[in-house]
Amino acid sequence: MTDEQPPTRGVHTRAVHGPAPDPNLAAQAGTPMAAPLVRSATYAFASLDAMLAADHLGPAGAFYQRDGHPTVHATERRLAALEGAEAALLFSSGMAAISSLLLSLLAAGDKVVALRQVYGGTRTLLDWGRDRLGWRVEEVDAREPEAWEGVLDGARVLHVESPTNPTLCVVDLARAAELAHRHGARLTVDNTFASPVGQHPLALGADAVVYSATKSIGGHSDLLAGAVAGPAALVEEVWRARTTFGGMADPDTAWLIARSLKTLPMRVERQNANALALARRLERHPAVAAVFYAGLERHPGHAVARGQMTLGFGPVLSFDVRGGAAAAQAVVEGCALIHHAPSLGSIETLIVLPAHTSHRRLGPEGRARAGIPEGLVRLSVGIEDEADLWADLERALERARG
Ligand SMILES: *Cc1c(COP(=O)(O)O)cnc(C)c1O
Repeated sequence: MTDEQPPTRGVHTRAVHGPAPDPNLAAQAGTPMAAPLVRSATYAFASLDAMLAADHLGPAGAFYQRDGHPTVHATERRLAALEGAEAALLFSSGMAAISSLLLSLLAAGDKVVALRQVYGGTRTLLDWGRDRLGWRVEEVDAREPEAWEGVLDGARVLHVESPTNPTLCVVDLARAAELAHRHGARLTVDNTFASPVGQHPLALGADAVVYSATKSIGGHSDLLAGAVAGPAALVEEVWRARTTFGGMADPDTAWLIARSLKTLPMRVERQNANALALARRLERHPAVAAVFYAGLERHPGHAVARGQMTLGFGPVLSFDVRGGAAAAQAVVEGCALIHHAPSLGSIETLIVLPAHTSHRRLGPEGRARAGIPEGLVRLSVGIEDEADLWADLERALERARG
């Protein structure tokens, strides 16, 4: 192909083909500071051999977008480096990542043990696997790790989160890995709440780590994506599931994630510092019955969290408002700066009522059993000035009390 098009070609041909993009454009202009955004779903090859060679690269190749893509690869390499993983994959959502991971590790009839406190979408996936694939699903409670040993026999996977939603229970990840491996199971960790820079499950013995990149990784409430990281051999299996089910990330989103990753440590550090400061203030407020945050010394998971988390204790905290559900609703509705919205890990502070969002389906008895008070408010703390956040919360708490 050349840039000069024969003038004899018709308008339709010229409209479709145009001048060929120069694959070395970037190199001619020096090294680009930002990774080039390639928005091409397929690639042209000069020979069959060249095409087959690209196809044979598997997860590392760029043959057709669902299989692999240069902009997506660039972000995957950046994420793997930050994570300290051999390989990483991006997905179209956190649930695409979690389902590809579990479907690649679990065959029909396999046993999987998961935390009772796992994300609702993961719970739905496990129910689906039980109904459609005969997965034997066992639950364990994050608050009772002594009981885990008894159910791990014959399990293929132990799937956990730490800290958990919405009451921020802490799982000792090194201990969970040791326990899983002793029973021949793999440990998978949904590390969304801590983020890739706030906790390193692979270094603590986990076999794979999975993310909703919609949260801290993206960090600006403007994209939906997921990620899996781990050893290359395991990631290749997950890649097969991604290619089969089609949960590939698109290049624009991957490019935005590469941009977001550059500020991830700075955002997480500040979010976590703000969260700890607000948790301490909330603890002393007369309208608050209890605060759930692993950064507080009297939280049962504090010592473990301090040992396994870095840059602080995560951006999410929750608190029980005196006066129950009505008072909690008044707090959420009384906030002006803080937005009443689901999601977490973003630069802006978000507030929700778990009894009406993530844990609605449990009902009051189910929530009581799960240790979720009816007056619980969950806060995902952003990077604003802490004094402004506190002023907003304090005003809302006073109004709720009055
Ligand atoms: C949001 C979330 C998910 C699901 O991610 P999506 O990007 O919404 O598909 C999974 N796990 C946790 C812990 C989450 O917070």
